[in-house]
Amino acid sequence: MEDSPSDRAEQPGRRHSHAAAVLIPQPLPGPYDYVVPEGLTVQDGAFVEVPLGSRTVRGVVWGPPAGDVDQEKLRPIERAIDCPPLPEQVRKLVDWTAAYVMSPPGAVLRMAMSVPDALDPPPPAVIFRKAGTALPEGARLTPARKRVLAVLADGRALSGPDLAAEAGCGAGVVKAMAEAGMIRRLEVRPSADPQAPFEDRGGPALTEEQRAAAATLSAAVAEGGFAPFLLDGVAGSGKTEVYFEAIAAALRTRRPVLILVPEIALSAQWLARFAERFGVAPVEWHSGITPAGRRKAWRSVIEGAAPVVVGARSALFLPFQDLGLIVVDEEHEAAFKQEDGVLYNARDMAVVRARLADAPIVLASATPSLESRWNADRGRYSRLVLPSRVGRAAMPRIAAIDMRAEAPPRGAFLSPPLRRALAETLERGEQSLLFLNRRGYAPLTLCRQCGHRFACRDCTAWLVEHRLAGRLRCHHCGFSTGLPRVCPACGAEDSLAACGPGVERIAEEVAALHPEARTELMTGDTVHNPKRARALIEQVSAREIDILIGTQIVAKGYHFPFLTLVGVVDADLGQEGGDPRAAERTFQLLTQVAGRAGREERPGTVHLQSFDPEGEVIAALTRGDREAF
Ligand code: ADP
Ligand code: ZN
Repeated sequence: MEDSPSDRAEQPGRRHSHAAAVLIPQPLPGPYDYVVPEGLTVQDGAFVEVPLGSRTVRGVVWGPPAGDVDQEKLRPIERAIDCPPLPEQVRKLVDWTAAYVMSPPGAVLRMAMSVPDALDPPPPAVIFRKAGTALPEGARLTPARKRVLAVLADGRALSGPDLAAEAGCGAGVVKAMAEAGMIRRLEVRPSADPQAPFEDRGGPALTEEQRAAAATLSAAVAEGGFAPFLLDGVAGSGKTEVYFEAIAAALRTRRPVLILVPEIALSAQWLARFAERFGVAPVEWHSGITPAGRRKAWRSVIEGAAPVVVGARSALFLPFQDLGLIVVDEEHEAAFKQEDGVLYNARDMAVVRARLADAPIVLASATPSLESRWNADRGRYSRLVLPSRVGRAAMPRIAAIDMRAEAPPRGAFLSPPLRRALAETLERGEQSLLFLNRRGYAPLTLCRQCGHRFACRDCTAWLVEHRLAGRLRCHHCGFSTGLPRVCPACGAEDSLAACGPGVERIAEEVAALHPEARTELMTGDTVHNPKRARALIEQVSAREIDILIGTQIVAKGYHFPFLTLVGVVDADLGQEGGDPRAAERTFQLLTQVAGRAGREERPGTVHLQSFDPEGEVIAALTRGDREAF
C-alpha cells in the first residue's frame, strides 16, 4: 500500500493569535510565553524572533502559553521568520530527548537548529538576460560586449560568472553593460535545489537469503508504521544491497530516507555505490561540510526537497517532515555515542526517531552491539540474518599465530609465518593489510643508560614517539614535545630506545623486507581529511598500493577486491584494561578488519598474532564462532 504524500502531510499545528509559548535554543528551564501581536497568527513549530533580555533571539513556537505570567506583562513576538515550521516529529524528539537525558529542552533544540542562517530564505540569485528594447543611444559596442550580446541573443538567462565565461570577458563587462541598460539584470529567488529525480537503476540479482530480507524490509516500508529490524550479516554478505532495496521502496512512497553512518568522511566508496544505484548523490550531513553546504542541506530537508540524507549522528535532528525509513549502518560503532554537551547514543535515539515518524528502522552490522542483539532476542527487534558471503567469496580463513612459538627476529614485530604470507601475497600481485591499532612509531621511549621513561607532563600516560613528525606525543591529552637528543634524567646523549611497535615502525620493517613494494600508511595522522582518505582508497582500488598499514580507520567497510591478506600485528591489544566491554570491542574491531580480506573470488586469509591464542576472543574468532562469544 502506498501513501500519497498528501495523506501523510503533517496536520497543521495549532494556531495562536493572542499569546504563545516559544522555546529558545539555549539551556533555559523551558519555553517562555510571548504575546502574538495584532495581525499575526503563528502555528506550532513556527520560527520567530523574540526579545530575550536586551537582545533579539530566534526560537520556535512550542504551543499555547503556559499562562503563569500575566498577559499584560508579556513581551511581544517581534517577527515570524520566512521558513517552514519545525515539524511536529522533531519537536516531539526534542521533548523526548530532553526528558530522557535530563537536559533543558532548549539545549536539545539547539541541535535541531544547528544552522541558524538556514532559517532565512536563501539570498536571491542574480541573472542576466538580453534587454527587451533596442540598444540605448550612444552605447559603445566593444568586441567583448558584442560577444555578451551574442551569448544572450537566443533569450537565455545566465548567472554573471556563466555569462562572462561563455562570452570570454571579465565580470566587469557584464556589470557595466547592465548598468548602461544594454542587458537586463534580474534577481530571482532560487527554488529549493532542483535535484535530479532519483531513479532506481536496480542492483544485482539477489541471493535467496538477501531476497527474503529485502522483501521483509520493503513490505514494512510500503506499509509504513514503526518497525525496528536488526540486519545481522557477516561482512560481505550484501547488507548494503539489502537495505538499498528498502531505500528504493521508501523512495517509491515519496517519504525521505535518513542513513546514519559512523565517520561519513571516510565512506567515499559508499557514496559512489549509492550514486551508481540511484543515479544521484544523497545530501551529506557531517562535520566536514562547508557552512554553505550545511545551510543548503538543512533548508532542503525542511522544505521536503531532500529525498535521501546520509550523515553522522547529528543528522537525527534534521527537520524531516515525515521520515519514511532510517538505516543505521555499522550500528555497533562507538562513534554513535555523543559524549560532550547533550549525552546520547544515536543508535537508541534513531529508534525513538523512527517511532515518532511511524517508520521502519534498520540497524545493520556484522557485529551487532550486545544491546541490539538482546533487543532482537527478546523480540523487540525483528532479526534478519545473512549468514554467508555472496557469490564465490568464501569467509576468510582466520588463523592465530602463537607468538610464543613463532617469535619475530630481534627488534622486529612480524612473525615468520606472517612474513611468508606477506611475501606470497606480493608474489601473486595481491594486496595485504597490516593492522595495528596504535599510531606513531613506538608506544614507549626509554633511556638505555638510566631507564628513564618518557611520560606526559600533564597526565601520566607514556609519550608515543611519532618519528615521521619528529615528536613525542601524548595520545590521551594531546601534549606534544620535540624528540630530545639528550636524556633529561641522566644527560646521556643518543641513548633513547623505542620500545614496542606503532604503525610507523611496522612500515619501517616492511620497507626493509620489501623495499620494492608500494607501501602506504593509513592512520589518523596521515589521513586528516576526507579528500586524502578518498585519494588513498582510490589508490588501493586501482592496485597502486601493495601493502596498506593502518590503524582502526582501515577497518571501516571498504571493499578491495584484490586485498587477500590481513595481518593483525597485535591481536591482544585492547583486550586488557579496566573496561568491561574491551573484549567485545576487540572482537568487533578484529571481525571488521578480518572482513576486509578476500571479498571477491580470491580467497582471503587473516593472521592474528597473539601471545594468548587460546583466550576467548582469539579462539572465537578463529573458530568463526560469534554465537559462542
Ligand atoms: P556488506 O554490506 O554486508 O558488507 P555489501 O552489500 O557491501 O556487503 O556486498 C559485498 C559485495 O558483494 C559488494 O561488492 C556488492 O556489490 C556485492 N554483492 C552483494 N550482493 C550481491 C549479489 N546478490 N550479487 C552479486 N554481487 C553482490
Ligand atoms: Zn637517562
